[in-house]
Amino acid sequence: MKKSTATALTLVVATLATGLPVWVAVNESERQGLDAETARVLGYARDVLLRSDRTADQADSGITRLKQAQGADPCSDASLALMRQIDLSSSYLQAVGYVRDGRMLCSSLGRDIGDMILGDPDIITANGVGIHKELRFPFTPKQSFIALQRGDYAAIIHKDLPLDTTISDKDVSLAIYSLSESTPVASRGTIIPGWMARLGSGNQATFVDGRHVVAIVKSGRYRTASLAAIPVDKLNARTDALARRLVPVGVIAGIALALSLTMLARTQMALPAAIRAGLKRQEFFMVYQPIIDLQTGECVGAEALLRWMRPTGELVDPATFIPIAEKSTLILLITERVLELVARDTGRFLASHPGFHIAINLSAQDLHSPSLGGDLERLLARTGVPASSFVLEITERGLVDVDVARELTRVIRAAGYGIAIDDFGTGYSSLSYLEKLEVDMLKIDKSFIEAIATDAPTSEVVPHIIEMAKSLKLRMVAEGVETEAQAAYLRGRGVQFAQGWLFGRPAPFAEVAQRVDNPVTA
Ligand code: C2E
Ligand code: CA
Ligand code: CA
Repeated sequence: MKKSTATALTLVVATLATGLPVWVAVNESERQGLDAETARVLGYARDVLLRSDRTADQADSGITRLKQAQGADPCSDASLALMRQIDLSSSYLQAVGYVRDGRMLCSSLGRDIGDMILGDPDIITANGVGIHKELRFPFTPKQSFIALQRGDYAAIIHKDLPLDTTISDKDVSLAIYSLSESTPVASRGTIIPGWMARLGSGNQATFVDGRHVVAIVKSGRYRTASLAAIPVDKLNARTDALARRLVPVGVIAGIALALSLTMLARTQMALPAAIRAGLKRQEFFMVYQPIIDLQTGECVGAEALLRWMRPTGELVDPATFIPIAEKSTLILLITERVLELVARDTGRFLASHPGFHIAINLSAQDLHSPSLGGDLERLLARTGVPASSFVLEITERGLVDVDVARELTRVIRAAGYGIAIDDFGTGYSSLSYLEKLEVDMLKIDKSFIEAIATDAPTSEVVPHIIEMAKSLKLRMVAEGVETEAQAAYLRGRGVQFAQGWLFGRPAPFAEVAQRVDNPVTA
C-alpha cells in the first residue's frame, strides 16, 4: 500500500471512529427521549381516562339510586334530600336532578335556583345515555357544564373537571371522546381531528404526528376514550439535554478509538522506515539456540535467530518485524545483515569445529533473489569455512512451485550447504512433493511437539510426521522441546536432534561456544 493511500485510509477510519460513537450517542438520546415522552403522554391519557370513568361511575350510580327511590313526586322533599346526599358523596358531580321536557325542574341545588335548560342531548350513546356537551346556567354564566342524562334524571359535571389533572404543563393537550363521535366531549389545547382515527380497533395507541407525541387510551367500561398530546419541541428539548450528557461520552470514546487507530497505523507505517534506520545504526544482532543430538546429548549445532534492539531499549520480536520486512525487499537487506553477523559471530569457532553447523533462516523472497548467491559467497569468504558448516532453513512457503523448488534445492546442495525444511507439518508438503526435493533435514514444528502426550488432535500427527521423514531417509530436528517427557518420546521414536528451552534458550554465540568446549558432564 502506498503511504498516501494508507494515510488517507487512516484518516477516514479515524473520522468514522470519532463519528460513530457520537452518532450512536445522538441516536440513543433521541430514542430514550422519545421513549420517555411517550411514557409521559400515555400517563396523562390514562389519568384523564381514570377521571372520566369515575365521573361516569358516579353519575350512573347516582341516577340509578334516584330512579329506584322515585315516588309520586320526583321533586318531593325526600327526593331532594336524596339528591343532596348523592351530590355530597360524589366528588366529580356538581349536581344531580330531575329533568322534564329538557328542563331541570329540581336538583340537589334546590327547587328554584333559576332556569336550568338542558335541551336535547348532543349525543345519545349506545346504552341510552344522553350527553349534553356544553351547558350554561344563568346563575354562573361564565362556567360551562356537561350533563349526563339517563331517562328523567341527569348529573351535572364541571366541564373542566375530568381534564383538571395534576398536569401543570400548559403545553399538554387533553381530550375526552365518546366513541360514537369524532369531536371531543371535552378538550383542552390543540387537538388535531385526524388523531382519534388512529386508535382504530385497538385499546391504546401512541404515535408521533408532525409536531406532537400523542397517546390515546380507550375505556374498558364505557364507550369513551381519552387523548393526550405534547409538542415535539418538548421532546427535542429533553433529547438535547440527554444528548448533552451522552455526546461527550461518545466524543471521548471516539477520540480514544481514533487515537489508538492512528497510533497503530503510524507504527505500522513507520516500521519499514525504522527497520531501515535500525540496519544503518547496527541495532540488529544474533542469538543462537543449541541443537542437541538426542542420543549423545551433545550440542552439534545452533540456530541463528535475529534480534532487534530499538534505541528506546525495546527488544522487538522477529515475529513482529520479519513479516513486515517480508512484504518488501527489506527482507533481502535483513538477510544480508544476518549473514554478515553470523560470519562475524561464528567464523572463528566454525573453523576449529568442522562437525558443528549453524542453521540460518531464509525467507521465501531470499530464495528467488539474485542477491542470495553473492551474500552466501561472502559468508564463506569471511569465515573461510566450507559451506557444509551451514544449514539453510527454508519454510514450505518458500517452495511452492515444485520445479523451481527442485532446481533451487539442487543448486544450494551442490554448493555444499545443508537444507532443512522449517516449521515442517504446518504447510502442505506431501510425501511425493518432498521426494522431488534435495533436502537434508526436517524441522518438526513446535506445535506438534507441544501436543505430545496431550489430548490435542495434533498429537496423533506426530508419529506420522516421524514416519514420513524416516521413509524419505531425512534426519529430523524437533523444535520447541520443553520437557524431558517430550525428549524421551522423540528419542524413543528415532528423532535424531532437538532444540528447545529444555536444552538451552537462544543466547549470544559465546555461550554456545563455551558449552561445546566445556560440556557439563552429568
Ligand atoms: P523459527 O525459525 O521457527 O524459530 C524458532 C522459534 O522458536 C524462535 O523464536 C525460538 O526462540 C523459539 N523457541 C525455541 N525453543 C523454544 C521452546 O522450547 N519453546 C518455545 N515456546 N519457543 C521456542 P524467535 O527467535 O522469536 O523467532 C521467531 C521466528 O522469526 C522464527 O521462527 C523465524 O521464522 C523468524 N526468524 C528469526 N530469526 C530470523 C532470521 O534471521 N531471518 C529470518 N528470515 N527469519 C527469522
Ligand atoms: Ca527456523
Ligand atoms: Ca521453526
